[in-house]
Amino acid sequence: MIQHKGLIGLNPPQREAAETISGPVLILAGAGTGKTRVVTTRIAGMIYNDIPAREILAVTFTNKAATEMRERVATMISQEAAGEVTICTFHSLCVRILRTCIERLGYKKNFSIYTQSDQLGLLKKIIVRTAGKDEKLDPKMANMEISGAKNRGEVPGDFDDSLIRIVYENYQRDLKQMNAVDFDDLMLLAVRGLEENPDLRKSWQRHFRYIMVDEFQDTNHLQMTLLRLIVGKERNICVVGDDDQSIYGWRGADITNILDFERFFKGPKIVKLEENYRSTNTILRLANSLIRHNIDRREKTLWSSKEDGEPTKLISMPDAETEAEWIVNEIHDEHRMHDRSYNDFAILFRMNAQSRIFEEQFRELEIPYKLIGGQSFYERREVKDVLAYLNVITNNDDDVSLLRIIASPPRGIGGGTIEAATTFSIERQSSVYDALQDIEFQASLPKRAQNAIGRFHELIQRYSEFASNPNADYAEMTTTMLKEINYDEYVKKNCKTPDEADMRRKNVHEFLEGMHFSMKKKKKRGLRGFLDGVALMQDREERGDEKEQGHGVSLITMHASKGLEFPCCFIVGAEEGTLPHSRSVEEGTRDEERRLLYVGITRAQECLTITWCHSRRKYGDPLPCMPSSFFKELDPEELEKVDYKELADAPVDEDSALDYFARMKEMLSQ
Ligand code: ATP
Ligand code: MG
Repeated sequence: MIQHKGLIGLNPPQREAAETISGPVLILAGAGTGKTRVVTTRIAGMIYNDIPAREILAVTFTNKAATEMRERVATMISQEAAGEVTICTFHSLCVRILRTCIERLGYKKNFSIYTQSDQLGLLKKIIVRTAGKDEKLDPKMANMEISGAKNRGEVPGDFDDSLIRIVYENYQRDLKQMNAVDFDDLMLLAVRGLEENPDLRKSWQRHFRYIMVDEFQDTNHLQMTLLRLIVGKERNICVVGDDDQSIYGWRGADITNILDFERFFKGPKIVKLEENYRSTNTILRLANSLIRHNIDRREKTLWSSKEDGEPTKLISMPDAETEAEWIVNEIHDEHRMHDRSYNDFAILFRMNAQSRIFEEQFRELEIPYKLIGGQSFYERREVKDVLAYLNVITNNDDDVSLLRIIASPPRGIGGGTIEAATTFSIERQSSVYDALQDIEFQASLPKRAQNAIGRFHELIQRYSEFASNPNADYAEMTTTMLKEINYDEYVKKNCKTPDEADMRRKNVHEFLEGMHFSMKKKKKRGLRGFLDGVALMQDREERGDEKEQGHGVSLITMHASKGLEFPCCFIVGAEEGTLPHSRSVEEGTRDEERRLLYVGITRAQECLTITWCHSRRKYGDPLPCMPSSFFKELDPEELEKVDYKELADAPVDEDSALDYFARMKEMLSQ
């Protein structure tokens, strides 16, 4: 193998793993030991050794991780070569497979991908349709049940509860009729397509001759099956993972895949890495003391050649407001006094809802932050509208999108007509779009409604035709279409304040800019490819606000923080019932919660603070809280326990006093 500069920085076992490119390789190692670095160096090495970039596939769990991996590879080789390697999530790999073969599974090639908010909208409609408006079945619950069932390979008939059974049945039928798939379908259908078609299997096996999977501990059964289907005779597959970081059991991830790996890919080279390059020994010892309490794990001893650092602070706060205020001020002070970049900080929490109060604090002090896992840019009302137009243009059968746009802006097709068309479409098992065109249906309508439908049909048809050309400038097309339907005016009319209208119009503008950018970068993908990319960005765990991705403090769930690292981390809201989550007791997933905290702790490079609150508001009322029972398992030697009162009463050091006066002066002079 030809040497390249990336290899020089690796330690001997890392190097061995990076240089072994034929046959199965299993890298099992703890957090921060350079697993991901091995994968990226391995990719670079292959390219140095003249393996064509298009034959290399690296699969990761999040889009963010995929982007980071591509960037790391690009620094070792060239941007251009890195661009040719397929580095993607399981879901986007499935989309690629399905775009070439979904017709064999009874769908049309232009299928739409439904994100969670589309799914919930559809489920809500189905629940109301089947059980009436008063039905208490929560669409989110139904979604979870159905998703779980799909991943376990269960069909509607497997449910005892008749309502869920009917909802599941209708949901699948409606999706198919709308030529749409959800995220679970992506996996299921891709696996089915490959299982049923040996020729496809062979062609993908020839296509990707070298396959790598990061965060392998979080693959589920279906993902493992997919891997077995696309790995060819040469068996060039390398997986890296850490059983201590398996945190997706609730999504069907199966730790036994690690054991199975050796069963399916016999005689793998097994590489162990033990030196941690990320954290101080103080942080590592704390992490080790916690994870030791999990039974059934492969014993690992992590060590670092870094010095001991500051002990981890464990602070009890009176309430969530104080917790947020103190942490945000702490970050502010560190930034001002020690010149630390805001990018160096991360606030890690167990549940999305915990971020709001921090956001408020950050906004108040005008500190830049990026929220990962919050409302996505693409879920904003106006952006969703535009996306819905584009979805209908590429897939006329997409009823969810069609119903969203048919009367926005209003065009003379009233609520009664829309309802009648929906009923008609259910009776005829057609799409709403086709129902609207149906001569028999139209005959039941007044002339005015008929004309309005005719105009709508003409509009969609015209743009559909335009967009069906893969070389069409779809960004320009969208701009023209929005002008034609006078969307700007519609937004203006529907906002309460001019500020709101401004913001929404800006969002549309930004979306169009994004489209132009994507058009330039990946011309050949066409509109459908662009829409796939947008849908795939909205994977449940990592929806983020694109605009705020650039710079600032990261606000992130522990689940989404996997694989990332930050100099300073704050793990917040560590109360019993939140971490471990109250459900974990009844569901017997306490070990998984412990691994989640372990993931959180091992994100920190230099300093770590863990906080919990004596009281927290629930539905407006303050409720007393207990500290996380995991604290008892943490080695007290590595902790500095502090009560907020002590922090508040602590004598102020000279620097902060001066800073305080400077801030006061600044405020007074404004
Ligand atoms: P996780 O389990 O959290 O995903 P990981 O095992 O994938 O962690 P990496 O993210 O690859 O670990 O590496 C952790 C940090 O250590 C990175 O900053 C990486 O650049 C650095 N690192 C890895 N290997 C070495 C090495 N041999 N020399 C110096 N730094 C290294
Ligand atoms: Mg990693």
